[in-house]
Amino acid sequence: MSDSAIIVAELTVSAQEAPARAAAAATWLLEQQIIQPNDQPDPVWRPSQYHPGPAAAAAVRDFRQYTGLIGDGIDILDRRQIHDPGGNYTPPACPNCTTLLEEDAHITLIKPWLDRAEPFVTCENCATAALLGDWTGPWAIHVANLAVRFNNWPPLSDAFILELCDHLGPRCRLIHQRI
Ligand SMILES: [Zn+2]
Repeated sequence: MSDSAIIVAELTVSAQEAPARAAAAATWLLEQQIIQPNDQPDPVWRPSQYHPGPAAAAAVRDFRQYTGLIGDGIDILDRRQIHDPGGNYTPPACPNCTTLLEEDAHITLIKPWLDRAEPFVTCENCATAALLGDWTGPWAIHVANLAVRFNNWPPLSDAFILELCDHLGPRCRLIHQRI
């Protein structure tokens, strides 16, 4: 399994829309040769549906460093789930004044988000109310019906993230996970 992962999660796509949107994103990633099908999935060593493709380096920030395949498998996830940064966890920051949300208060909001809808959270410092997914930071937790997970990949380029998000939807969030 992976030691780290970069997860690009999209927060607005509904559960009904997610499979079709995931399939369209997979088609685009396959066409770009960023990914290729994993013909021999193995539950322990190669559990992912996709492998890095021959053009995987085109998706990463310092692409000149890499020759051949980079990273481990890619998962395209179309079921509602919690995307947790694991050991990287840091509470998210207020989008207005950057005050961090209190950790216990944050954690208690995740299950209601998973079970029902994304909560609104009011900042204790500046009283700004924002959807929890709009609080900022790459070490936070998000709930999404649609996500692409790059296992043990180096940092992705900003241009690639923007393009991928065009295929996923308007509210993409990055989660940097460390197991
Ligand atoms: Zn604030």
